[in-house]
Amino acid sequence: MSKKLLLKDAHIEGIRYFETYRKQGGYTAAEKALKMTPDEILEEVKTSGLRGRGGAGFPTGMKWSFLAKPEGVPRHLVVNADESEPGTFKDRYLMEFLPHLLIEGMLISSFVLGSNVSYIYIRGEYSWIPDILEEAIEEAKAAGFLGKNILGTGFDCEIYVQRGGGAYICGEETALLESLEGKRGNPRLKPPFPAVKGLWERPTVVNNVESIAAIVPIIDITGAEYAKIGVGRSTGTKLISACGNINKPGVYEIDMTITVEEFIYSDEYCGGIKDGKKLKACIPGGSSVPIVPANLLLRTVNGEPRYMNYESLADGGFATGTMMGSGGFIVLDEDQCIVEHTMTLARFYHHESCGQCTPCREGTGWMHKILKKIEKGEGKMEDIDLLWDIQRKIEGNTICPLGDAAAWPVAAAIRHFRDEFEWHVKNPELSQTQNYGLAHY
Ligand code: SF4
Repeated sequence: MSKKLLLKDAHIEGIRYFETYRKQGGYTAAEKALKMTPDEILEEVKTSGLRGRGGAGFPTGMKWSFLAKPEGVPRHLVVNADESEPGTFKDRYLMEFLPHLLIEGMLISSFVLGSNVSYIYIRGEYSWIPDILEEAIEEAKAAGFLGKNILGTGFDCEIYVQRGGGAYICGEETALLESLEGKRGNPRLKPPFPAVKGLWERPTVVNNVESIAAIVPIIDITGAEYAKIGVGRSTGTKLISACGNINKPGVYEIDMTITVEEFIYSDEYCGGIKDGKKLKACIPGGSSVPIVPANLLLRTVNGEPRYMNYESLADGGFATGTMMGSGGFIVLDEDQCIVEHTMTLARFYHHESCGQCTPCREGTGWMHKILKKIEKGEGKMEDIDLLWDIQRKIEGNTICPLGDAAAWPVAAAIRHFRDEFEWHVKNPELSQTQNYGLAHY
């Protein structure tokens, strides 16, 4: 059984309220941290090996150490709660059931970064959660854990919740900052990076909800103890939101030493494939990461078991591996049609493109059109190569990672499931009435 650090108290009734959270030992990490110096806390975070839980997996302590500290210029912590990646809903769970864990993590992080005004930018569709967060902020303030002179340390900190307008692109950190400033959420060219010029051109750290929540157990048990959980550079625990054709969709906390097979089939987690069907493929890190067929999902090319961690999932590179990403684990059974699935994703990325760069603005729409054509049985063999060519021209040629996120699912689908694309071309009538999966199993 995986060790629980973040969700250990999630089952306790009333845990979203200050009184219950406090009774369970809540805010003791903040009390401990505020007796330390910011540098000492930073060292703990670095020692823990915590990697950003939003998708990129960049070491959090290192990110914090990049923050510029010009004299007299305010600095900010911004929590990225714009969780819009299809298949990912772990931050929603944390904010809905454990809002004080996030607030406590923000207090500690704000203290380290010297942020007297910190923000939570939350996706517009999570319409009921800002009230929960704002209530928790008021409770923490009433108890002296936010506001002026917190715990007599002389440190002031206010937290504000900003609702997004429902655009996926605002999950990209610079688009988020633009939106937070009240502008259209267009990603900025980098450099300068937010650590130097972020919110209102002030040094800013943007971190994912789960990353900030993880600061609490790190301070609680120490960075060294946190680093002992997990394996290699995949330290600590990770939240996974599991969905698709499985028996037990939900949010699970894993310690990154379990195999993918155990995660899918064990009753502790996904409980196996629904209706006893066969596993066809999986997207383990949210819709932007490459899809992997069952054989390469359960084992690496060397025949080693594949584990639920950053290194093992990426083993083999993009040709045979994938990414941990945001931990949005989407499972597809034997009946699913990869062409249809890829087309759905292409439609999503086309819709969400901000339109600033030509390869993304035009390429995502072009990919969607071609996929639609193939899926309807109206495609030609050359369309598959054209599709491949378009995704190659998008990847690496755009301002922000949305371009790559749109290209990778198409590339992986063609690489691993070309036969399905060809089946649609060769069987125009059948492909209008059946999907590939149902026709072949
Ligand atoms: Fe906008 Fe797409 Fe360019 Fe990102 S890659 S800036 S979403 S057009």
